[in-house]
Parts: sequence; C-alpha cells; structure tokens
Amino acid sequence: MSTLRIAVIGGGAAGLSAAETAQRMGAATTLFERQRLGGECTWSGCVPSKALLAAAKTVHSIRVPAVPGITADSVSIDFEMIVEHVQNVIRDIARTESAEEYRKRGITVIEGEVHFASSRSLECGGEPYTFDRAIICTGSAPAIPPVPGIEEVPYVTNETVFGLKELPEKLLILGAGPIGLELGQAFRRLGSEVHIVDIASAILPMVAPEIRSILQSSLEEEGVAFHLSSKVSKIAKGDPYWLAFLGDDTDPVQFTHLLVAAGRSPRYGTLGLTELGVAVNRKGIVVDEGMRTSVDGIYAAGDVTGVMPLTHVAAYQARVAVAHALGKHRKATYSAIPWAIYTDPPVAGVGNYSEKEGETVLRRSYEHIDRAILENRLQGIMLCGLRGKPVLGKAGGGEIAWAQVAGIQADEVIHEFAMAMHTHAFAGRLAQAVHAYPTIALGIQQLVAQAFLGE
Ligand SMILES: Cc1cc2nc3c(=O)[nH]c(=O)nc-3n(C[C@H](O)[C@H](O)[C@H](O)COP(=O)(O)OP(=O)(O)OC[C@H]3O[C@@H](n4cnc5c(N)ncnc54)[C@H](O)[C@@H]3O)c2cc1C
Repeated sequence: MSTLRIAVIGGGAAGLSAAETAQRMGAATTLFERQRLGGECTWSGCVPSKALLAAAKTVHSIRVPAVPGITADSVSIDFEMIVEHVQNVIRDIARTESAEEYRKRGITVIEGEVHFASSRSLECGGEPYTFDRAIICTGSAPAIPPVPGIEEVPYVTNETVFGLKELPEKLLILGAGPIGLELGQAFRRLGSEVHIVDIASAILPMVAPEIRSILQSSLEEEGVAFHLSSKVSKIAKGDPYWLAFLGDDTDPVQFTHLLVAAGRSPRYGTLGLTELGVAVNRKGIVVDEGMRTSVDGIYAAGDVTGVMPLTHVAAYQARVAVAHALGKHRKATYSAIPWAIYTDPPVAGVGNYSEKEGETVLRRSYEHIDRAILENRLQGIMLCGLRGKPVLGKAGGGEIAWAQVAGIQADEVIHEFAMAMHTHAFAGRLAQAVHAYPTIALGIQQLVAQAFLGE
C-alpha cells in the first residue's frame, strides 16, 4: 500500500499539530510555512500576552497586596526590560517548535508561501508539489475596522504591541473582547491610562452577566475606562495627543497609542481557493465535522475556519482533520471545550451558557469558598447549568450543560467541569468526589452538592 502524502499549509498551532499527527500516523508529511513555525500563539498571541499579564500581576500584587498590613513604598518599572523578558519567553517556547525539531521527527519542512495549483497540487517558492490530502492551517489576521482617520495613526495590533519600546502613556483599545481585556489590564497595571471602546453594549456577550460584571468591575476599579455601545466615528491628530471621537460626542478620548483588537479575519486570500471552488463564508473556510472543506481531499483547521479561535481548538481540529484524511472518521465536537480569559481575576467557561426553562442554574460565590476567604480574594462566582430538575438525595443524576467561573484559579478549575462533560460524568459524581481542603476546586464540589445532597 502506498503511503499517503499529506501537505500541511501553515505552521501555527493547527499546522504543528496536524504535522505531528500525520507523521505519527505514518503519512509522508510536508509542512509548509511562509514565516516562522509557532504561528500567532507563540509569537504574537497566547505566549507574549500571558507573559505580559504575569509581569503586570507581579506589579499589582506589590502595589495592591490582597492582605492588609503590607505596604510597598514604591515600585519601579523598567518597561524595556519587561518587553525583553516577554521576547525571551517567546524565544524559549519557539525553540521547541523549530524547523530542525520537526525535521528530526521525520517531517519535511519547507519555507515559503503556498498557493494551490489544483486540487492535488500546490506551489511554494516557484516549486510544484503534489499531495494526496492537504490541511489548510493558515490562521487569521487582526481585522482593522474602517474608522475614518485610522490609516493616519501608527496603530499597533497583537502583531506589533509586544515590541513596543516605551510604555504607552494613554492607550486606546478598540475592542472589548478577550484580547482587549487582557491587554487593557496588563497595560493599566504597568502604568498606562487605558480606554477600551466597543460598539457592543456589554463585554463578552457569551458569558453570564454576573461573570462579566465581576471582570468589568475589577478592571474599572483598577482604572480601566470602558466606553461601551460606542462607535469611534473619527480619529484625528490633536496636539499633543491623538483624538478619538465616539459617536456624535464632541469630547474626544485622547490617546498616545492605539491598539486594534477588534476581531479577526481568516487568512486564505492568497491561497487560490476561489479557483478551486473551496467554499468560504464571512467567518472563514467552511468545514464539516470531519474538518473537510467543500473540495475532496482538502481540509482546514484552526483560526482559518473561524470556529472557536483558540490554540487548543486549532490543535484539536487539526488532529481530527488528519485522522479523517487518513481514513479514521472522527468528528470535531465543541460542547466540552473550555476557554479562559487570563485577566486577574480570570474568567473561564465550558459549554453554551443559557438560563433556559427546565435547566437548573447553581451558583456559589467565592465568599463561601474558604480558599478565596483565606487569600482575601473574594471577587468571584461559580455558575453551573444542569439539564433537568435536580433530584435531592440522588447523587447519581444531573447532566452538566455548561459552567462558568470568575475568580482566582478559574482558568484551572474549569477543567473539572470540562472533564465531567467530556466523559459524560453526571454532576452528582462531582458532588460525591472528595476534594482537597482548602482548594478552589472544593468550591465545585460544594456548588454541585447543593443540588444533589440538599446542602
Ligand atoms: C493577543 C492574543 C492572545 C491569545 N491568547 C490565547 C490564549 O491564551 N489561549 C488560546 O487558546 N488562544 C489564544 N489566542 C488565539 C490563538 O493565538 C489562535 O487561536 C491560534 O494561534 C490559531 O492557530 P492557527 O494555527 O490556526 O493559526 P496561526 O497560529 O496564525 O498559524 C498560521 C500560520 O500559517 C502561516 N501561513 C499563512 N498563510 C500561509 C501560506 N499561504 N503559506 C504558508 N504559510 C502560511 C502563517 O505564517 C502562520 O505561521 C490569542 C490570540 C491573540 C491575538
């Protein structure tokens, strides 16, 4: 039997996972990357943003200790050194994803921009290549909204913000999504004045109002200014600051730096998909549950599909695509995939939040979780939606429909809900499982126990 040849286009989270999976499954694997392996997550996404947030959290914990009786006279910040640290962290992580590392594993890595020549061939650097199956993993780029005057401002995006040489004095962020919120908090804590503008009336529409209000009020307490239900109608050069006019407002927001974090555009424009007949929509390349595009033998995974643009989802979709391409009929499902926003406090969730009739919503404030009390970090809540009515005294029942947590360690403890949902373990099982004291995870056991044990 001849070995199937898999072409993986793009070496980010999806592409690296696709190449590793294909190679492990015995396919002859070629990975094409136009820039550098690692993609957005490593170079301009998860890694630098979390490293910057960690630096900002350190500053904040010195300036505003959670426990009374501690004061620090002053904190000095060397922004250039922090940026250098962030760049070092990127390099450390990128080292494990180098072309040499992947070649050592038996994967052919070719550097250059790819476009399709036919449904079984492509070109890279002027050279033709044929394949049996192709996995498109070309990611997404920051979307730039058509705000009048924006082209005049030397704005930054996630692709350039981690290379800033100076701390912005006044930072205006377009977009109150996860990126805007995380970077807004990081820069505020490091000393910038921060304004976040969004046309939506609330931050994070997919989360429960109680959860989002904990996050928004935490950021507001730290001095982040939100301008929601606000559209930037014009940007103009003032003296000495840039000016952003919101709607018909005549009192503009002044800024020195503009960060555009207003959504993502799938990156497939130069691949030649139209000629091939690959179907696309506003969000990205259209795929089915097996990550197949509309053209036989061509698959897509990661941000380019526009479905849950997260690193772990990209890697998961890539594994599904490769398995499917190699004859294993796996399907991608998203009902038990966790997400997190790494602010302080963090916010995390799994499943689709809803408060429907017939569902029970359980709530437990961090004020009743001993770990939060002893750390004096009481801002937080756990919510969990159960399908069907809980039966008191029956610890075996109750299916978890969704869960959301805001508060310290939310990004870690959400995995207990995710695991229960993934394995279809009933919520009653969580209530029965003994949890260590004093942990935030114990709050999960106490949360679900309310329904089953009548506590
Ligand atoms: C600031 C920020 C913070 C984030 N934080 C998190 C987080 O904490 N957790 C999380 O899960 N997600 C996070 N994300 C999202 C995460 O970064 C993306 O979901 C993930 O990187 C998508 O991976 P991908 O492989 O689909 O695309 P990418 O990582 O963008 O990779 C695509 C690759 O394809 C290459 N390419 C494109 N076109 C071609 C072509 N024609 N030929 C050859 N190569 C090509 C590109 O050069 C690139 O290397 C964050 C994103 C941002 C912007």
